[in-house]
Amino acid sequence: MKPARKWPVHPAPIEGEALSSWLHRLAAGFHMDTFELLQHGLGLHYGLADVLHNKALPSVDIEAPSGLIAGLAERTGVSADRIHAMTLAGWTPWLLDSVQPMAGAFHNYVHRSSVMHGPRSRAKTMEEEWRAWVPDHPIKRACPDCLADPERQGLLLMWHLPIMLSCPIHHRLLEPLVAFVGGPIWSKDSTDLEQRPSPAVLEMDRRTHQALTTGKVDLPRRSVHAAIWFRLLRTLLNEVSTPAKYWGPGTRGLRAAWAASGHRVRAGQGVWKPFEALRWPIQSQLLEAAAAAMDLLGRGAALGKGEEAALFSPEPERAVYAGSPPCKPNPPPKPVSVQVSTYEDHWAKIRESMEEIMEIARGDPSEAQVLYNFMLYGCRTPEAAERVLADFEELGIAIDQMEHKPPIGPYA
Ligand SMILES: [Zn+2]
Repeated sequence: MKPARKWPVHPAPIEGEALSSWLHRLAAGFHMDTFELLQHGLGLHYGLADVLHNKALPSVDIEAPSGLIAGLAERTGVSADRIHAMTLAGWTPWLLDSVQPMAGAFHNYVHRSSVMHGPRSRAKTMEEEWRAWVPDHPIKRACPDCLADPERQGLLLMWHLPIMLSCPIHHRLLEPLVAFVGGPIWSKDSTDLEQRPSPAVLEMDRRTHQALTTGKVDLPRRSVHAAIWFRLLRTLLNEVSTPAKYWGPGTRGLRAAWAASGHRVRAGQGVWKPFEALRWPIQSQLLEAAAAAMDLLGRGAALGKGEEAALFSPEPERAVYAGSPPCKPNPPPKPVSVQVSTYEDHWAKIRESMEEIMEIARGDPSEAQVLYNFMLYGCRTPEAAERVLADFEELGIAIDQMEHKPPIGPYA
């Protein structure tokens, strides 16, 4: 059999480019569309749905048929390994365990480590088939500065995934893109050009970029393999997304992270869903909260209760050299006075706790529902329940997303 002829001058893939984008650029060079290139340029007769369509991103960007990779390698001279790396299948098992959704995958990927939560807090999980990072809803984004560069006129694979908020090269937010046809067509939902990513977001995305380009990430205590980094990031995203009632000893740190992000607790989610099933506006806020949590840990401004929290914490200060001149002996410990809590102290604690509970309920409709259900236990009449709702409104707790009559109520 004669070896296939190499194509004449054709564009080389850009580092990190998605296979669908490169196919599109190759086809454009021959004045074809991608499907025509596959049929006439490569002699492949795939159905359109087999290669270009998918719920979230083009199926060739998830896993390309081996015949397509081999044909492209023959005609372009680009190695099959490099082409494989333009698909998510080329990133297994580092970025994800498998491109095929699998039962039990969520637990294996997300619950192997813990950062802010205590190590035994496994409140939210799913047994159904799942795969990491591949979104249920398409999220096409791109960096305007990258696309303004004549040498970088392609779309990167990671721009399809909810894993980064910014461009690590140009330090600006990725913008929603409608399509790339001869040039970018930006969505009217593009952010204000003056809006810059926070230092916390830039640092998180710098680490992800380092994982993607070097296979390791330098954390404050030590370097970790890229596979560990992607799992730590996904674990943290699950922790900031878990309903507040499961936060346990990590509550203080997680509340601080959400406050630093500037968003409502849990991005105002009602029912918990895995990160991949959420819409981009929620995913982007969860990424910001994860970045804020890492930043607080890195500055020693919050404590994580998980087993891997120390990886993000600053290096412990070295012990001071204790040679000559001799150190002053430590002063004797002061006697500890035993405090006896008074009745007023107990009420002060209850008031403080109520303030905290109401604050959580203001930012989280599911927590508002829990508080409402609890308050109903003191109500003997429907009118009393109405008064609870009026009190909620007065306290700034949204009631529009609440089920006002829980299935089991004191007067049901
Ligand atoms: Zn860029």
